[in-house]
Amino acid sequence: MTDLVLVNANVLTMDPDPAARPRASAVAIAGGRITALDEVPPGATRVADLHGATVLPGFHDAHNHMVGFGMSLSEVDISSPPIASLDELYAAIARRAGTTAPGDWVIGSGYDQNKLGAHPDRDALDRAAPGRRVWLRHTSGHMCVVNTPVLAALGVDSAATEVPGGRVVTDAGGRPTGLLEERAQLLVGSLVYPYPLAELADAIARASAEYLKEGITSCTEAGIGGGWVAHSPAELAAYAAARDQGRLGVRVDLMTAGEVLHPLGAHPGDNLVAALDLGIRTGFGDDWIRLGPVKIFADGSLVGRTAAVHDPYAGSDGSGYLQADAADLQAAIIAAHRSGWQVATHAIGDRAIDVVLDAYDRALAEYPRPDPRHRIEHFAVVQPRQVARAAELGVVPVPQGRFATELGDGMLAAVGPARGEWLYRQRSLLEAGMVLPGSSDRPVVSGAPLLGIADMVNRRTASGAPFNPGEAITAHQALRAWTWGSAYASRQEHVKGSIAPGMLADLVILSEDPTAVSPDRIAGLEVLATIVGGHPRHDAGALDGLG
Ligand SMILES: [Zn+2]
Repeated sequence: MTDLVLVNANVLTMDPDPAARPRASAVAIAGGRITALDEVPPGATRVADLHGATVLPGFHDAHNHMVGFGMSLSEVDISSPPIASLDELYAAIARRAGTTAPGDWVIGSGYDQNKLGAHPDRDALDRAAPGRRVWLRHTSGHMCVVNTPVLAALGVDSAATEVPGGRVVTDAGGRPTGLLEERAQLLVGSLVYPYPLAELADAIARASAEYLKEGITSCTEAGIGGGWVAHSPAELAAYAAARDQGRLGVRVDLMTAGEVLHPLGAHPGDNLVAALDLGIRTGFGDDWIRLGPVKIFADGSLVGRTAAVHDPYAGSDGSGYLQADAADLQAAIIAAHRSGWQVATHAIGDRAIDVVLDAYDRALAEYPRPDPRHRIEHFAVVQPRQVARAAELGVVPVPQGRFATELGDGMLAAVGPARGEWLYRQRSLLEAGMVLPGSSDRPVVSGAPLLGIADMVNRRTASGAPFNPGEAITAHQALRAWTWGSAYASRQEHVKGSIAPGMLADLVILSEDPTAVSPDRIAGLEVLATIVGGHPRHDAGALDGLG
């Protein structure tokens, strides 16, 4: 019994099989799966004429922070735009403070000191929000600024304290400025974590509703359960709750924060040296909620200049830092590999990338395993020799296309002209034979896939400067990244990421074909409908209420 047939469609299948058809004009769906291409099964009653609209596999964001994004929707938006100066930022904080009880939190996210001229300052925040606790997250997520009541509650309002893998920044007189870098953010976490699961489920529902409007049908959450990216040790239960309530609209792959792995006491021959209880690991779950890789942080942020690079940042003698001792990082990566995990390591600077490639190399030599598909998240400043080595090790690099527009100017300034051609590679990764996924790192930047796809093609910064333009790719390659590439990165390409009989019926319907319009129009194309598991979950009229 066929559930739905889309006809008169421009279907781009993204099927990697050379024997398969690259395009089709009709898709038949039954039982949540695609059953046929280019035919209308007899007896089909629900037939939607798409009048030539374009159908693609649903978009899959291979690296985003869904809970963080959902929570940011209820926080003060301090990103630029709309905030153009520090004065405007303080005014926005003052407005929110006016509706916040004394002692409560004013939380904002998305500021970028490259656009504001400086980080916000604790004293100005105290004046803007007297008696309130203020916590402002940097757009990178790798640092934040807090005001005096928060510093006082942490016992660091008059003198800094040493934090391994992070920094409590002080002024020339040794007084903390309110800026907390990297793992020093865990200090604030101690005041607000853990969040109640109901609040997290609400955030997931809010994010999910946005994602469906943008054509997203799957996403990979880049770290839950521990460390500074997490919101609760029981974060997976929030996803399960959202699903039970019918509010999880997209399929999720959840990365486990490396911090929560532990020895299990299983048989020594099982090699479970870094595990979760019951031995569950990458791949556990179903088509809706599934455990992805383990997430390990090697370094920090490029625009924040905390990422570990070999040569110092432009105009400075700083070269960033690793989030842990190199030997400890490598031991954690090897232990996770040994215990059967797919490993996704955040590594931005070329120095951090070397540490991670060495660890993957050793892990594979000491504990060989077919097709581990270890990932490097961001893979931002990459020397030519590192491209070749990553390809040889079967690494899946996970760069973010949208960073070009929203963070590109700050990145170019951070690395200087000599390293501009190493930034956020795409084309050279494909040419080296690697699979390229599509991802946003939302809420770090806007997460709508069409924005990311447009940026992968156009490669321009907000100021209009070319952003390492030699690494631009075609619209078709960018679409393939956001569909099949992301499915591959999450070891799911056998069930999603292309349109073929037997695959999950996860589809996005676009007003026009991104491969046929001029590159500057891609970002403005309309998402007409989003179908997940055969059910229309967003419909701007394309399906005429057939859902
Ligand atoms: Zn991230």
